[in-house]
Amino acid sequence: MSAEIMSAELHCAHCDQETLHTLVYAGRLLVSSTCETCQTQVRHEPADLRIHYVRDLEHRIVTKPFRLWRRFWKSPRAVFWGFPKQAVGQPRKFWNEVKELFK
Ligand SMILES: [Zn+2]
Repeated sequence: MSAEIMSAELHCAHCDQETLHTLVYAGRLLVSSTCETCQTQVRHEPADLRIHYVRDLEHRIVTKPFRLWRRFWKSPRAVFWGFPKQAVGQPRKFWNEVKELFK
């Protein structure tokens, strides 16, 4: 399974602010996320990720993306576990909409 690198602004618990994160995916699964500012890396076990994909991603984020994004943003761990590859891959327009939620 080949790794795929993506970048996204996420809340870093260590920095206590939104920073650019490098997200490493293996297929659809998020393997690790690294804060570009403090280099804090969070690694994820595939088995756990699958559970969260079913419970959090597909059930919550996909069905009610924008309201739930806000909640996930305040809970970095939930963001990391449930971060949807589909959302990361969305065009700039999507991210602008997400950012509107935090103004
Ligand atoms: Zn950080």
